[in-house]
Amino acid sequence: MILIISSILHMKNHIWSAIIVVVFLFGTHFYIVSNRPSTEPASNEVVVGTPVPPPDPVPEPMPPATPEMIRKIEEERTYLLGHFDPAKSSEFIAIPLKYTMYQNQMYLRKETYDAFLDMRAAALKDGVNLKIASAARNFNYQKNLWNNKWNGTTPVDGKNLAQTIPDGLERFKKILEYSAAPGTSRHHWGTDIDINTAEGAYFDVEPGIKEYNWLVENASLFGFCQPYTAGRSLGYNEEKWHWSYVPVAGQLTKDYAKIITPADITGFEGATYVQNLDLINDYVLEINPLCR
Ligand SMILES: [Zn+2]
Repeated sequence: MILIISSILHMKNHIWSAIIVVVFLFGTHFYIVSNRPSTEPASNEVVVGTPVPPPDPVPEPMPPATPEMIRKIEEERTYLLGHFDPAKSSEFIAIPLKYTMYQNQMYLRKETYDAFLDMRAAALKDGVNLKIASAARNFNYQKNLWNNKWNGTTPVDGKNLAQTIPDGLERFKKILEYSAAPGTSRHHWGTDIDINTAEGAYFDVEPGIKEYNWLVENASLFGFCQPYTAGRSLGYNEEKWHWSYVPVAGQLTKDYAKIITPADITGFEGATYVQNLDLINDYVLEINPLCR
């Protein structure tokens, strides 16, 4: 069943795939409702003295997907893939530069921002200074990061990958160790932040050790979770700096699994190799279970 749905969802026509997602969701709901185990006695078992309850009403068939439902799914697809400008979204807020590591203007969803400020204030009381090194990154921003690694402009592990890994699929996998392909990054959502650095070695020494230990101990009190922990068998490598605001990101992760198909992940260098990988299951959904 999943395979059939998944193969249907590979269709490039987004409108049709949206219709199918809607029909599938309502169909699943209908199936679950109509197959709920009955707690009533079987109709031929008459229990003396017990009033016979009226039969369950026959459920009304679910209405077909309306243009409004399809429009909402298309809107969410656009958002989940990062095809928007956070500076122009009413859901996002510009982060004051006093809370950021660098001087470039960054944005977050308001809920994430408020939770970060609460967490930052609590950390400061314990002598830990948390600043945002990276926040919302839309598709175009991520595409720029990705393409520069792909074509060798940005070295990866000190190397020009365009020269050292000429095989496209292998180069794609190498970049995936730490970078999401455009359209698959949690940074698109405005729910995820990199704190104080994006370099693992930072946490090998102080103040990184104290900062990470504080986050492990306390971040969940403010709704934050580390999605890329050590010890997972698939997905990105451990990222001690990347924290996700679960009250919003948890639902978005589920929505991503339902709405986004591999055909949606396109429009950057090397995108032809998306078909050779399972980016959605092996990367987007391959996170610390506590972040779901
Ligand atoms: Zn990150």
